[in-house]
Amino acid sequence: MAGVSFEGVEKTYANGVTAIVHLDVEIDDGELAVVIGPSGSGKSTLLRLLAGLEEPTGGLIRIGGMAVNRKSPQERNIAMVFQDYALYPTMTVRENLEFPLKMRAIRSAERTRRVRWVADLLDLGPLLDRLPRQLSGGQRQRVAMGRALVREPSVFLLDEPLSNLDPQLRAQVRTEIGDLQRRTGCTMIYVTHDQIEAMTLGQRIAVLHQGRLRQIAQPRALYDRPADTFVARFIGSPPMNLFPARLESVGEQILLHLGEVSLPLPTAVPPAPLGPHLTGGIRPESIRPCPEPHGSFPATVLDTEFIGHETLVHFSPQEDPELRMVARLPGAQPLQRGSTLRLSFLFQDLRFFGPDGRALT
Ligand code: ADP
Repeated sequence: MAGVSFEGVEKTYANGVTAIVHLDVEIDDGELAVVIGPSGSGKSTLLRLLAGLEEPTGGLIRIGGMAVNRKSPQERNIAMVFQDYALYPTMTVRENLEFPLKMRAIRSAERTRRVRWVADLLDLGPLLDRLPRQLSGGQRQRVAMGRALVREPSVFLLDEPLSNLDPQLRAQVRTEIGDLQRRTGCTMIYVTHDQIEAMTLGQRIAVLHQGRLRQIAQPRALYDRPADTFVARFIGSPPMNLFPARLESVGEQILLHLGEVSLPLPTAVPPAPLGPHLTGGIRPESIRPCPEPHGSFPATVLDTEFIGHETLVHFSPQEDPELRMVARLPGAQPLQRGSTLRLSFLFQDLRFFGPDGRALT
């Protein structure tokens, strides 16, 4: 197994599209890193560069410390699993697993050992003599993973491997992939556009947007401290509420102006640099009903969505009807559209972003 690093990597395709812009990132040996981003953000290009299927137009890629820019895909010993993994339909599971080893002229005894190893690892023993069409979707996916693993790759790349599975199976195979990675300790780079997959699987998550790395962080840090307004909106469902904000110092007090609303911040809240053109951010679960007028504001309910254990309440501050925000309140909330309630923020959860969209600490 091996770590991976991208050092100032660029990729501009022949048609002039720049898919990766100066990427600097290091994935540790044995790490499961998830790459997430909207469609067209460069996720697949990143994997293809690493696998050697595309050549970078700048920078250096290393696997296990060795520069691989000039190495062929075979020399890199990388396994890749795609969403439309194709098993050979006329071969049994055993033959499918053995095939990549035969192609590499690996001895029969060693082939048998490795097939037994992956079969044990992935619980494929009882399926070895079946044909792919005699397997469920999840079982086929496991065989595809096994076929990649028997090669004992130094890095494992997965490109949206679950997108063809139904939701229940997705959750199950997702857990299996995480478990497999922990047991084998392999370096895994997993591409998805699904947040739940990213948050539950990734030891770290890299967020790409327009070919640029916006942030790489552990899931909790990514959620709690987004590096910019793009990450703040991209991670979390519903996303973080963003609003034009102004921080003003009045005597000992710091006032947060949210349009026409003014809220005194508790002194314990670390103040962002005071300024007129900030963007404030608050997660929906950090907005609470508050009967006390001090530190709260009246809001008009625009809509509610009851989703069982919680209710999403879409509202506008009464003094700022242009602004639309959403609060996540526990349980069922008997709120009528058009009704009024007082809301407050958990002030320690407030985030501020500068005019360039970058987070202020
Ligand atoms: P993602 O996987 O995040 O959807 P891609 O890496 O596939 O993004 O694509 C990033 C950008 O590069 C897109 O604008 C896409 O159109 C472009 N692109 C991808 N592959 C090629 C190619 N072979 N030739 C030209 N442009 C490409």
